Amino acid sequence: LVAPDGSSVPTIFAEMTALAAATGALNLGQGFPDEDGPEIVVEAARRAIADGVNQYAPGRGFPDLLAAIAAHQQRFYGLELDPARQVLVTVGATEALSSTLLALIDGPDDEVVVFEPYYDSYAACVALAGARLVPVPLRWPDFQPDLEVLASAVSDRTRVILVNDPHNPTGTVFSHAVLEEVVRLAHRHDAIIVTDEVYEHLVFDGPHVPIATLPGAAERTLSISSAGKTFSLTGWKTGWVTGPAPLVSAVLAVKQFLTYVGGSPFQPAIAAGLRLPDAFFASIAARMKAKADLLGTGLRAAGFDVGTPGGSYFTVVDAAPLGAVDADAFCRDLPLRAGVVGIPLTAFASPAHRADYATLVRFAACKRVEVLEDAARRLSALS
Ligand code: PMP
Ligand code: GLN
Repeated sequence: LVAPDGSSVPTIFAEMTALAAATGALNLGQGFPDEDGPEIVVEAARRAIADGVNQYAPGRGFPDLLAAIAAHQQRFYGLELDPARQVLVTVGATEALSSTLLALIDGPDDEVVVFEPYYDSYAACVALAGARLVPVPLRWPDFQPDLEVLASAVSDRTRVILVNDPHNPTGTVFSHAVLEEVVRLAHRHDAIIVTDEVYEHLVFDGPHVPIATLPGAAERTLSISSAGKTFSLTGWKTGWVTGPAPLVSAVLAVKQFLTYVGGSPFQPAIAAGLRLPDAFFASIAARMKAKADLLGTGLRAAGFDVGTPGGSYFTVVDAAPLGAVDADAFCRDLPLRAGVVGIPLTAFASPAHRADYATLVRFAACKRVEVLEDAARRLSALS
């Protein structure tokens, strides 16, 4: 996990946020919003503290939040879940992922298939669980996997197919054909599907399609999400896992010894958030799309080749037209050259495959409009 030169500590996100702070650059690196989420949700947490919701929550989560998560899955996706047995509250999607992988993986012969580039915790958790990571490449500019390559990556050794949709870092929303192929392969090789859907409400041309809604998928899918992105409250670290009761219990068995439980007063507040009207959920996707469009226009004017995200916080660009040959070096210079921070896509690839993403950079659009406009002005100095 830790490279001999210490380069994996801290994570690329912490490192680039520190670089932004040290240089006074605009932070379009780490994916967190610079405005807090709905006051009604924040106020509900304040009230929970004032009302004494300050001791340990039940291991699975407060029944009210379990019910709100189940109702959310029903309202948006038509998924029927028993809140007492098929829902588990976790410390962000991060703990949902780590406890799920630790629960499902038996040993070194197990393989976990992931789309590469991938969110950094995936490879780390697969390593912690002692399994083998089998990456399926996503290629610029559309980042949809080749279905034959996907099929050849899945075998009877595959324990988990891990799908992040919408996808970080590329902003891709996977096609229906990809989702169907994942389900077909999981059946054929008796694998479990784990989905990371933290950007579920940030699909620009919705609706979001959870894999669990595909025929035959729910019985072998654990779906993970989190309040962080939906409510612009990333620091609250409240997430959840839903799926078949025995699988959710297996995740709980691990989770209880990782953190036992997370922060109690956030739970009633997130329950209130999940009960907000449909209009709230529609508005966040529309606002993020407008921000992604604004960011894309600025990046194009600066001379980058700009990808078209289908959702999430992120837009990927090719910096080659600006002379970049090494995205990592480009991103380390960018705060000094232009006063903006982005993240090299190489940070999301395994060492053997970094060359495939050598000139690609991820920028986060989840910032105030003034910040995105300022970034466009600053980046125009590059061309
Ligand atoms: N998965 C993905 C794809 C992410 O981008 C992130 C970062 N927000 C997480 C998981 C972690 O989510 P949380 O902060 O809820 O742990
Ligand atoms: N998910 C956020 C991103 O991709 C960062 C979360 C973190 O710093 N671990 O930028």
